[in-house]
Amino acid sequence: MAVPKKKISKSRRDMRRAHHALKSQSRIECSNCGELKRPHHVCARCGHYDGREVVETSTGA
Ligand SMILES: [Zn+2]
Repeated sequence: MAVPKKKISKSRRDMRRAHHALKSQSRIECSNCGELKRPHHVCARCGHYDGREVVETSTGA
């Protein structure tokens, strides 16, 4: 619901924004090349996922 800006105190506004901080992204090691990658994502360096190459890389091909 829209509330006039001056009705919200700095304290209320800042309490709302207390949850806005970004969480650090989790990283795991790629099983193929050992590079840190995001879980459940194709490795950005070697293009491997689930033990096989699924994306052609400039260095690999
Ligand atoms: Zn990799």
